[in-house]
Amino acid sequence: MRTHYVTHLESAWDGTPFPFGQIHSMHTGRPLWVRYDLEGISRSISREVFRSRSQSMWRYRELLPLPFDVSPVSLGEMWTPLLDCSELAKEFGLNQLWIKDESHLPTGSFKARGMTMAVSMAKWLGIKKLALPTAGNAGGAASAYAARAGLQAYVFMPTDTPVVNQMEPYLFGAHAFRVNGLINDCGKIVREQAPTEGWFDLSTLKEPYRLEGKKTMGLELAEQLDWNLPDVILYPTGGGTGLIGMWKAFQELKALGWLNSSKMPRLISCQSEGCAPIVRAFEKGERLAELFPNANTMASGLRVPVAVGDFMILDAVRQSHGLAVAGREDRIRFWMRRAASQTGISICPETAICFDVLSQLREAGKISSTGSVVDFNTGAAQKYLEALPAELPSW
Ligand SMILES: *Cc1c(COP(=O)(O)O)cnc(C)c1O
Repeated sequence: MRTHYVTHLESAWDGTPFPFGQIHSMHTGRPLWVRYDLEGISRSISREVFRSRSQSMWRYRELLPLPFDVSPVSLGEMWTPLLDCSELAKEFGLNQLWIKDESHLPTGSFKARGMTMAVSMAKWLGIKKLALPTAGNAGGAASAYAARAGLQAYVFMPTDTPVVNQMEPYLFGAHAFRVNGLINDCGKIVREQAPTEGWFDLSTLKEPYRLEGKKTMGLELAEQLDWNLPDVILYPTGGGTGLIGMWKAFQELKALGWLNSSKMPRLISCQSEGCAPIVRAFEKGERLAELFPNANTMASGLRVPVAVGDFMILDAVRQSHGLAVAGREDRIRFWMRRAASQTGISICPETAICFDVLSQLREAGKISSTGSVVDFNTGAAQKYLEALPAELPSW
């Protein structure tokens, strides 16, 4: 019996192949793709098979790297709702607007998808100590899954990381440290100390499997829409795994012949004007992004001034005929409250940025009113106390 469909790993930069089943990080400082025997998958299952399985990202097991005879390190990653938001759609003059609400996932953000996958793989590969830099939610999710797996986690975060994100690693028993710098400074500590400390670097895209977990957002979205895809997807972009993973999911589904139409959605990569390296590179027509100086944004998940997967993000955006656009920092609180009060969904600052981008693109006539639009709510507003000053009057 076959226990997985992975054929090999492959450098996203130059295509160099690597064998599966060994510990890998990057190749020439650039990420690796996981490649599957898609023909083998399409011969052995049809897309209907998923319906009878649990409503969890783990139902797409054939398209994931963890061998079938290994139990995932799981906290119950249930399907997230795809909510039709007709009131909010009116605000933008759109016929169809959905929010895929990732705030329901363990630890309150879509980072759970990547971490359940990466920690499961790390455990299977015999890794004992994980380390990562975090802008916020990644550290909490990694700590929770490491606790679940009985592995040690070392987490490094900027001193001004949202306070809830600082509490999470502490709560889950990780070794957590504050660093006077940005996420790339935290990344440097991990990179430099990992060999002597025996840490495995779990940074975004520096290991191959967080991406595979985040890919399930795209698989789930397709299945929820009966194997159709929307016209436009707005996605808040930091390190880029969400956007890249989703694009990989759509390519794999297309190759499997499981999509009803070969028309791909336009991917809109949304960043804050306070940290917009991908938007800058997109505007300049470049494939690699330069470090964004003095990065600063309330949408902490987007405070990533330099991303190792920059070319993968930019390739996906361009291949999809999409755009990379910066949202305005002073509209974050407005859109959090506006969108949340019209939908009942706990909108995070990163997604508020996407709504500002949506309003800009609608005004500029770059998104048509008749198309279907999906916006991802990547985390729960409750995790951002600093962005939510309660101004309740006293009775
Ligand atoms: C990490 C994060 C992002 C950015 O995601 P990437 O996949 O790293 O681009 C967006 N929103 C939230 C809430 C996050 O935690």
